[in-house]
Amino acid sequence: MKISGLFKRGRPVFSLEVFPPKKDGSINSIYSTLDGLRDLSPDYISVTYGAGGNLADTKTRQIASLIKNQYGIEAMAHLTCVSCSEAEVENILVDFKKYGIENILALRGDVNPNVPPKDDFRYASELTSFIKARGGFDVAGACYPECHTEAPDIDTDIENLKKKVDAGADFLVTQLFFDNSYFYSFREKAVRAGINIPMTAGIMPVTNKNQIERMVTMCGASIPRALSHIMAKYSDDPKALLDAGVEYAAIQIDGLLRSSVDGIHLYTMNNPEVAKRIFAAVKKTSL
Ligand code: FAD
Repeated sequence: MKISGLFKRGRPVFSLEVFPPKKDGSINSIYSTLDGLRDLSPDYISVTYGAGGNLADTKTRQIASLIKNQYGIEAMAHLTCVSCSEAEVENILVDFKKYGIENILALRGDVNPNVPPKDDFRYASELTSFIKARGGFDVAGACYPECHTEAPDIDTDIENLKKKVDAGADFLVTQLFFDNSYFYSFREKAVRAGINIPMTAGIMPVTNKNQIERMVTMCGASIPRALSHIMAKYSDDPKALLDAGVEYAAIQIDGLLRSSVDGIHLYTMNNPEVAKRIFAAVKKTSL
């Protein structure tokens, strides 16, 4: 099933993101994650690809196929062009089709300093038009409510995002943010720039101080005062930090649902228990 159709049902699309087990990890470790996430009945689950500059392999496809064909949940495979030549992308698309994967999050990716980047595609927009030209896939794109770290300013970043939309992107998924006002202002600017495809809000729960500080350094999201207060207050109490992080994410999601968001995409960090607690805390009726 193509995910874009889900946005036409008149209610927010609820999705989850998982990552493949690390380099030497067995693919089997993903089963317990998916067993837990299945209970949340997500509209789809996406699977990252070579994230954080890790070398990509076929695990993304294997897990996306597992989600779709064994768990019966729609899947979206991420694909980055910084690590793939045109011929490699062509082969990956054939493989995706073979396993019934119909949705791709087309990304440029971040350069791994130890691996020279491939240069057939410069930007995600070029990968998007390449995939759309082959047909058979819905393509999603990433967007950045607080501006992509390499863009000089938010207006330029939105101009570049429009190129990705014009290349055929069907819907957008945002980078994580902790202050909903960035999302609202970005959504308004994007609409003014002629971007009218659905935009799903990416939410990452704060469950671990170091992990969040690492993510924020990588992606440039800011930490609002209320959240930095929580992180400082519970820095020596991981359980209390987790409880407060769950509540913070639930409040963020509740606010977004009240503002007619197109979808919520939860970065689960492969932790189904946290995802379950967040959604138990959100008013279920809106989802
Ligand atoms: P692009 O859209 O190509 O943009 C990159 C930069 O180039 C931006 O600054 C943009 O303004 C600029 N730009 C774009 N087009 C043009 C143009 N035509 N001319 C000039 N400038 C231009 N990374 C992974 O490695 N694996 C993953 O699985 C993964 N999943 C992600 C999921 C989400 C929801 C998000 C938000 C990010 C994800 N990332 C992932 C991270 C992503 O790869 C990085 O943020 C990367 O730096 C940018 O990718 P992009 O697709 O947004 O790039």
